[in-house]
Amino acid sequence: MLMIDRKHCEDLDRRDPLARFRERFLLPEGVIYLDGNSLGPLLKSVPARIGQLVEREWGEGLIRSWNAARWIDLPQRVGDKIAPLIGAEAGEVVAADSTSVNLFKLLSAALTLQRGRSIILSERDNFPTDLYVAQGVRDQLGCRHELKLVDAADIRDAIDEQVAVVMLTHVNFRNGARHDMTAITRAAHDKGALVLWDLSHSVGAMPLSLGAARADLAIGCGYKYLNGGPGAPAFLYVRRDLQDRIRPPLSGWMGHREPFAFVTDYAPAEGILRNLCGTPPVLAMAALDAALDIWAEVDLAALRAKSVALADLMISLVDEQGRGLGLTLATTRDAEQRGSQVSFAHPEGYAVMQALIARGVIGDYRAPDLIRFGLTPLYLRYVDVFDAVAILAEILRDRLWDRADFKRRAKVT
Ligand SMILES: *Cc1c(COP(=O)(O)O)cnc(C)c1O
Repeated sequence: MLMIDRKHCEDLDRRDPLARFRERFLLPEGVIYLDGNSLGPLLKSVPARIGQLVEREWGEGLIRSWNAARWIDLPQRVGDKIAPLIGAEAGEVVAADSTSVNLFKLLSAALTLQRGRSIILSERDNFPTDLYVAQGVRDQLGCRHELKLVDAADIRDAIDEQVAVVMLTHVNFRNGARHDMTAITRAAHDKGALVLWDLSHSVGAMPLSLGAARADLAIGCGYKYLNGGPGAPAFLYVRRDLQDRIRPPLSGWMGHREPFAFVTDYAPAEGILRNLCGTPPVLAMAALDAALDIWAEVDLAALRAKSVALADLMISLVDEQGRGLGLTLATTRDAEQRGSQVSFAHPEGYAVMQALIARGVIGDYRAPDLIRFGLTPLYLRYVDVFDAVAILAEILRDRLWDRADFKRRAKVT
């Protein structure tokens, strides 16, 4: 007899205050989607918006649509929709470029602001693109900075007067561990350092309070929990009182004070807009814009409560059904210190994930040995977690992963 049965999960779904949002998504039949932390699914409102944009605004409106359909304001309008999700105010966020490019822009700007300080402090297990970009920025600025990497637990102790900027991803992409944003930001400010948060695995998964934490700078991803579509534009945040001190390293015309004056010399726009560089990708921006509308109806406290409950459920089910099957929980059991994903180590993790995907349970694999499940409260049901764990247990018990085709690595894991 199982301690947690499927009927219990059905009851939880019946009482779920977020249950009504599931039908807003186009989810394929027979799929349990546990990878919304990597690529959010399609909202039903998006194809209609893109269709109308292509046929009316582009097809008929042509270049007039930059004004008439307000394409030119999309970066700011989309930024203003993201602002309440991260505890920022209108005018503190703009949508642009990719997360990697936004990191380049803000990290470069932070180092320029912090002249005389030489250290970029980050976490050894930060998302690789963040570390690669930091290495590029360091080299670009003449190798006068050191990228210092420490373990997550040692961040606060490593902040001293030499640190220019503490650059961290709020929720770790591998194990889902979550930093204490308020405490780390305060510790950095005590030593005169700036903090740059990467919110890629946080935004749309939990309430965030950049403003209350007095965070300086942040970036985040549009295609994960925000469901903006593959390669969706990312966003960046600069606290209001810092905005006019930023010297953008990518000083393109869209961040100019008067882009259409066509003058010879660069002069940055006031406020957040100076962080724009070139022409926005209107189709992609519109998809993200449409996808963001759902958030006006979502109670972020309820979202977080369900995220925690889904993760607790998954961990408990694997405790029960996965015993002796070679899984090691890689995510903390302490919900306070966790984002919205659960990861397990398994020596044959890659093949196990391929076997799961073949059965319609889509998560992903992260080297060297993690199977990772993103828990996205807007469209996942408690029964989905129950069914996913049952299939996982069956695959492990019967060694269904032990096939050559499940071990052949694809380009994207
Ligand atoms: C997903 C993710 C990115 C993505 O960067 P791109 O520029 O969109 O490829 C960056 N940083 C973190 C922490 C991420 O999780």
